[in-house]
Amino acid sequence: MTKPCLAVGSLGGTITMTRDADGQGVAPSLTVDDLLAVLPELADAADLQTRTLATVPGASLSFSDVFAAMDWARGVIDDGADGAVLVQGTDTLEETSYLLDLHWDREQPLVLTGAMRSPRQAGADGPANILAAATVATSPSSRGLGVLVTINDEIHAARRVRKSDSVAQDAFTSAPFGPLGRVHESKVTYANRPGRWATLRRPAPGQVPQVALLETGLGDDGALLQTVCDAGYDGVVLSAFGAGHVSAATAEVVSAAVKHGPVIFASRTGSGPVLSRTYGFPGSEEDLLARGALSAGWLDARKARILLWSLLAAGSPVDQIREVVDAHGGHPGGPDQN
Ligand code: ASP
Repeated sequence: MTKPCLAVGSLGGTITMTRDADGQGVAPSLTVDDLLAVLPELADAADLQTRTLATVPGASLSFSDVFAAMDWARGVIDDGADGAVLVQGTDTLEETSYLLDLHWDREQPLVLTGAMRSPRQAGADGPANILAAATVATSPSSRGLGVLVTINDEIHAARRVRKSDSVAQDAFTSAPFGPLGRVHESKVTYANRPGRWATLRRPAPGQVPQVALLETGLGDDGALLQTVCDAGYDGVVLSAFGAGHVSAATAEVVSAAVKHGPVIFASRTGSGPVLSRTYGFPGSEEDLLARGALSAGWLDARKARILLWSLLAAGSPVDQIREVVDAHGGHPGGPDQN
């Protein structure tokens, strides 16, 4: 039987982190080949191509690092790889995976993973996560699903996954709908399969929009939102209370902010959609919509920021931004799913 061809790239993260001296914290240092050296079974199971793309913590990844990683993954797929795995810091996995998913235009899977424990820690989860991600990336059943996150033996849709615990091994969740599938005994099982949106256009050359993400809180008077508008940001995502609410004072600033650029409101709760026609007080979802803000629907604020960034970076007109945000936020299962 011919072996599948698998590409594995690394951007850094805890999964690559070791410590230089006793008493110091860990920092990224290992290459992708270092990571695979402890997994001889992977070389037996697949023809491997590897690339260390960066050696940075998740927090220091940039939009251009992510597009560079996507170009590498596209290149290896076009040269015949059956799938690609990208290893990175878990801190930004929910954002990078969604950015990649919005732009990934190949049938072959691109699977992201990382680790919650560094390689020298007891119970390090990196090797098992890489193996599971490789299993998913080389499984024919993963074709056409876009970008996936495989961690802790669960397979998550990029548009729904979220780091919801700072240290736990099962830090990644996809509330409220749950993961797409699981991996066990080198077997991939999908329980549900999301539809795919048309991929977004790549950023126009030199386009690096500034999109602010502001979380509202008790006593918010809208001053921070005003400051962001005055600073010339191209768009704003508001992580709002509950089902999409801000204070009456902040709502007044929203009316001015929408004249500067798109304003999207999402729920800060971590699960569930924002509403559209239940509450009618100043600062409610109905009021924000009437003032011209856009609803993130089921998207959380971080995903909404990535989507708005991508649309602004591609130079999309306002009507198109509204249409795409409505569609992506309104249909968490993808087009034609509800
Ligand atoms: N701070 C780390 C990072 O994102 C966390 C991780 O990789 O798990 O690089």
